[in-house]
Amino acid sequence: EEPPAAMAVPQAPQGDLILLRRVGIVDPSSLDDYRAHGGYAALRRAFELGPAGVIREVTDSGLAGRGGAAFPTGRKWQVTASQPDHPHYLVCNADESEPGTFKDRVLMEGDPYALVEAMTVAAYAIGAHKGYLYLRGEYPRALARLTHALAQARARGLLGEDILGQGYAFDIEIRRGAGAYICGEETALFNSIEGYRGEPRSKPPFPVEKGLFGKPTAENNVETLVNVLPILTMGAPAYAAIGTAKSTGPKLFCVSGSVDRPGIYELPFGATLGELLELAGVRKGLRAVLLGGAAGGFVRPDELGIPLTFEGTRQAGTTLGSGVVMAFDDTVPLPRLLVRIAEFFRDESCGQCVPCRVGTVRQQEALHRIVERTGVAAADDIALLREVGRAMRDASICGLGQTAWNAVESAIDRLGAYE
Ligand code: NAD
Ligand code: SF4
Repeated sequence: EEPPAAMAVPQAPQGDLILLRRVGIVDPSSLDDYRAHGGYAALRRAFELGPAGVIREVTDSGLAGRGGAAFPTGRKWQVTASQPDHPHYLVCNADESEPGTFKDRVLMEGDPYALVEAMTVAAYAIGAHKGYLYLRGEYPRALARLTHALAQARARGLLGEDILGQGYAFDIEIRRGAGAYICGEETALFNSIEGYRGEPRSKPPFPVEKGLFGKPTAENNVETLVNVLPILTMGAPAYAAIGTAKSTGPKLFCVSGSVDRPGIYELPFGATLGELLELAGVRKGLRAVLLGGAAGGFVRPDELGIPLTFEGTRQAGTTLGSGVVMAFDDTVPLPRLLVRIAEFFRDESCGQCVPCRVGTVRQQEALHRIVERTGVAAADDIALLREVGRAMRDASICGLGQTAWNAVESAIDRLGAYE
C-alpha cells in the first residue's frame, strides 16, 4: 500500500516556479516524462562546461546551502575538487528531520529524477565516482520512487560506467536512516554510513578534506542540489538575478501550524514573513512564529516585516534555517510547546558530550516544572535555563547541543513567554 503523500503543494502566486515546476506535473516514475519536461539538459550542459566550468557557474550563482547553514556551495565544491587525496565522495543529505521541514520530501517524491541528475552533476564537478543518498527512514514513498529512478537511469546509461557516452563513471547508493535526528548532522551521517554509531565528529577537519571514509567529501542537502539544475540551464547571471544580492535564487518554505493552507511555498528570497503567511492564510489571533524549526527561534506578530533572506533574518536576530515557518495562534499553550521542544532535544541528543547530554535534560526538567506551576516561571528556573543554555551553546560538539536553547531563549526574551 502506498504511504500517504507529502502535503499539498500550492502554486506559487508570482512568477514561474523553478524548483517545484515539475512537482505534481511530471510522472515521477517516468524517465521519458522527466526528459520531456527538460530533464537531463543540465547534465549535458555540465559535460560541455567541464568540472571547473560547473563549479564556476555554481560559485557565480551565489548558491548557498539550503540544509540550514547557508554555506557557499561553489566554495564547498571547489575545495573538495582540489583535494589531492582520492577517492572523492558526494553525499546527499536527505535525512530531513528538522521539526516542521518537509521540502526535500516533496522534491524527492514529486521529481525524483531531478535529484539523480543533480547528484550526477555535483559528482562530476568534484571528481567523485560514487555518491551516497542518505534518506530519512520515515520516507517510504521517496525511497520507492528514488530506487525506481536509479534503476531506470542505470538502464538508460545515465548512471554507470559511461554516462551519456562521455567516459565518466558514477553511481549512487541509497542508505536509509533509522529514525535518529542526529544522523542528519553531516559527520554523524558519515559514521552511520560507515557502520558506526551516529555520533558527530569534531570539526575541523571539515568533510571537504576528511569526510566519508576519511576522504574528501561534498555533502549537500537535497534542495541545494536541485538548485544546480536551473543554475546550469538558465546560467549563473540569470539565477543570481533572482532573490536578493546576498540570498540568490528561489527558496522553498515549509509553512505549518495555525494557517488555512499549510504546505510548501516556493518564493524568491526577499519576500517578507508576513507576505508568506498571508499566502498560507494565517489565522486570527497569531501569537508567535517559529522560524528555522526547533533549532531556530520565535518571532512576534509585530515582526512580520522580516525579509525572508539569510541576511534579513540574521539582522533581525533570528535564522531562516531550512525554511521552517510554523505559526501559532493564541489557542496554543506556549509553556507546553516549549516543554515539547525540550523533550525533542533531550530525546535526540546522542549523549556523546556532557553539555548537551546533561543540559538537554536539565532544560526539559526546568520547563516541565514551570508548566506544573501552571505556566508561571520562578526566577531561579529562568536563571538555571540561561546558565544551562549558555553552556550548551558554548561547549557542545555539534549543532544539536549548540542550538537546543535557541527556541526557549527566544520565547523568553522575544515573546515574554512567562510574563
Ligand atoms: P555548519 O555551519 O557547521 O556547516 C555548514 C556546512 O558548511 C557543512 O557542510 C560544513 O562542513 C561546511 N563548512 C563550514 N565551515 C567550513 C569551512 N571552513 N570549510 C569547508 N566547509 C565548511 O552547520 P551544520 O552543523 O552542518 O548545520 C547546521 C544547520 O543545520 C542549522 O542551520 C540547522 O538549521 C540545520 N538543520 C537542518 C535540518 C534539516 O532537516 N534540514 C535538521 C537539523 C539541522
Ligand atoms: Fe551528541 Fe549533543 Fe554532543 Fe551533538 S552536542 S555530539 S548531539 S551530545
